[in-house]
Amino acid sequence: MTAKKQHPTHCSFCGRTDAETTMLIEGMEGFICDQCAERAYEFVQEALYKKPINAKALTLETIPKPTAIKAFLDNYVIGQDDAKRYLAVSVYNHYKRLLQKKTSEDVEIEKSNIIMVGSTGTGKTLLARTIAKLLDVPFTIVDATVLTEAGYVGEDIESILTRLLQVADYNVPSAEQGIVFIDEIDKIARKSDNPSITRDVSGEGVQQGLLKLLEGSEVLVPPQGGRKHPDQKMIAVNTKNILFICGGAFDGIEKKIAQRLNTHVVGYNAARSATTIDRNNLLQYIAPQDLKSFGLIPEIIGRLPILTYLNPLDRKALRDILTEPKNSIIKQYVKLFEMDNVKLTFDADVYEYIVDKAIEYKLGARGLRSIVETIMMDAMFEIPSEKKKNFVVTLEYAKQQLEKANISRLQSA
Ligand code: ADP
Repeated sequence: MTAKKQHPTHCSFCGRTDAETTMLIEGMEGFICDQCAERAYEFVQEALYKKPINAKALTLETIPKPTAIKAFLDNYVIGQDDAKRYLAVSVYNHYKRLLQKKTSEDVEIEKSNIIMVGSTGTGKTLLARTIAKLLDVPFTIVDATVLTEAGYVGEDIESILTRLLQVADYNVPSAEQGIVFIDEIDKIARKSDNPSITRDVSGEGVQQGLLKLLEGSEVLVPPQGGRKHPDQKMIAVNTKNILFICGGAFDGIEKKIAQRLNTHVVGYNAARSATTIDRNNLLQYIAPQDLKSFGLIPEIIGRLPILTYLNPLDRKALRDILTEPKNSIIKQYVKLFEMDNVKLTFDADVYEYIVDKAIEYKLGARGLRSIVETIMMDAMFEIPSEKKKNFVVTLEYAKQQLEKANISRLQSA
């Protein structure tokens, strides 16, 4: 009862010939191909054990409401309330779409992919990651900068889905409900607003390719990633229910926003007059046309209907990030020491000092971790072999450790 026979045979279920399958298993009266065998297995699981192919059985009652989604995000992400609300609503709607699919109603709810605009290190990836944690669906992060049009050096657009398949253990139905976070989407913007006559390898071509994924279509994915290979067996993945969350810093987009706001103050939007515009945080006024001015093609913008922004992190936000999130940096260190039976505490002014340094050296939220790491390095090296029960980080100790380490070294972090 094994693979291919001498003379042509075919699967008794789907009719594919042995040349068209990877494996044909022989039975008493016929054959079954690998794909039908897999499908039969899933069918049995579902029918006998009521195990849906996708682990989660969604119902309107069990899906988290937007307020609950936001509350969950609040546990991990400081501030960024607007972005959280937008994400919460679109994730909730995404769930509803998935449910609707099963009841085949006549009004089809369209997918609401998301685009988040905000400076680097303000929490875009963290938000996407946290959402994926809540949903318990396959989640992957891809960097748009490595993508190129087919035929150029770099990765094909389809490789985005390869990663999703990999985290879903090649369970296609599960991957088809996953979330993909595309980082640095701004890096594939057209270099100028005018469609250029010459080909723009890194920009527009990639956007066109991406469009296919965003709008929902059947895509053939190379299971091992990389280039499409003539003899690699492709896996068909439908992107219709995959939620795409894009993020980008869009450096300089404030200028486009300002220009637009200035030209609009006499328009229908006059209520938001120049005096009420908060010029220190123009991102909050971002609109789809600004993305277009920046160089995203209108079709892409149309496929990313939820546009939201992240605020720059102020002093208070940085201070909170240190200690407030469920798995905050400080909590992580306390835990590490606890495992050596050492009670770690910080004097309150140490936190202020860490934040001061992060601001002084423009390290942002990412820098907080490197600063704490630098302060704690010696202690982490010595304490496990000492008999101490307590360790208190005083301001003096923190200063001494950081000065010793030459903080400017951290700046590239
Ligand atoms: P980006 O916006 O560049 O995607 P990240 O989400 O990767 O930024 O943030 C980098 C790190 O900074 C995170 O891992 C997290 O530790 C911290 N961080 C940034 N913003 C926040 C925030 N709003 N709340 C909590 N932590 C944050």
